[in-house]
Amino acid sequence: DAADLQLLGKEALLHEPPGGDPEKLTLVRAQGSLVWDDQGNEYLDCTAQAWSNNLGAGDPRVIEAAIAQTRELTHARPTFHTPALLELAALMVSIAPGQLNRVGFTLHGSMAVEMALKLALRNRPDAEHVAVLHDGYHGRSITTMAASWPHPQNAFGRLQPHFLRLPRPDLYRPRLGSTGEEDTERTLAVVRDILEKGTEGSVAALIYEPLQGNGGHNEFSPRWHQGIRELCDEFGMLLIIDEVQTGLGRTGKMWASEYYDLDPDILVFGKGVGGGFPLAGVLTKQEYAKFQAGDDQLTFGQFPISIAAGLAAVSAIIEDDLPARAAEHGHYATERLREMQTRHPLIGEVRSPGLMVSLELVRDHVTKEPATTEAHEVFVRAQRKGVIFGESRYASLGSLIKIKPPLDITRDQLSHALDVLDEVLTDVET
Ligand code: PMP
Repeated sequence: DAADLQLLGKEALLHEPPGGDPEKLTLVRAQGSLVWDDQGNEYLDCTAQAWSNNLGAGDPRVIEAAIAQTRELTHARPTFHTPALLELAALMVSIAPGQLNRVGFTLHGSMAVEMALKLALRNRPDAEHVAVLHDGYHGRSITTMAASWPHPQNAFGRLQPHFLRLPRPDLYRPRLGSTGEEDTERTLAVVRDILEKGTEGSVAALIYEPLQGNGGHNEFSPRWHQGIRELCDEFGMLLIIDEVQTGLGRTGKMWASEYYDLDPDILVFGKGVGGGFPLAGVLTKQEYAKFQAGDDQLTFGQFPISIAAGLAAVSAIIEDDLPARAAEHGHYATERLREMQTRHPLIGEVRSPGLMVSLELVRDHVTKEPATTEAHEVFVRAQRKGVIFGESRYASLGSLIKIKPPLDITRDQLSHALDVLDEVLTDVET
């Protein structure tokens, strides 16, 4: 029966550790920011399921659109249009930041990054490199893993295309004796030096996240963004901004590019765009839109159900003005967390903006040693109290508790999540 099959399934799943993970829930239902497991327990989900459901689970506008599309036409190969595809294309271009006016779709953020890299290489056919940043994260396909900084979870050996790895400034742990701003200037000088030495003219593009997510929630100063755009122009590199995680309202604006006043040549989006369905893609400036028929066509690349859900989701994000909601909630959350920081020695830094919020947990405020086991304890204890936070704990990337719920979380729910966090921090500290 089903229960037996589920037990056997736990042994069969490729990605499970032998014996399974005791904290892993089996989810059966979700609504808004709430999820329920198969034991009937209710949880407040501060992760929006891999930071992807900006709109909250089960939004009727998205569900109805997906059901209607499913009844009409589940799939069309990418050589055909569907009405929703054309409407979503127009909508994405209408909300795009800067001068981006062409759009392509695919299903995963990783595949969208691959699309952006292919597009850059199409535009710079003689280039040998793509530049990437220290602690960047761009996905889990083999190419996007290689584009990411060697992440502890990406240790698959030497499958490395030609990525030119550049340092990033570190505002929290600047090099000895310098401030974050000095670190930014120094790092820009080092980047210039690397680009001048030997690789001039051979770097197709530089890809980075406007606010690094999976590599440890690392912020950049305005000077960094401006300096990088100048270097891209000087060295003929296309600037690819990876907004898979930061886009669609997460940071309190529709795009982090608006937040930081960036001028990307290519922008990658994903996660929140599908309203809980798999959807991602690329926006680019007209002059770089150089794909030909058949380029980058995947069997399910423009999957009509995802596209229909995406059309409804993006329309709803605009209608509900979710970026503004994220900004207000983010302001409230960071104020409360900064107050908690004065009482909790574990909190090294509170990071934002919008509802992209993280706490870096440290054992000591001077050495900033990552509190890896403590972060896990906070995560586990909070889940047992019904609140699911994100956790990331690597000695190399810092130890973070992440608060990135659906942007339509209620103020009461957010307040409750912060109360629980306050309690479990006290428990773990004593
Ligand atoms: N880029 C960034 C910035 C991301 O955060 C992610 C996902 N965490 C990806 C790309 C990859 O997206 P996906 O997991 O949908 O392939």
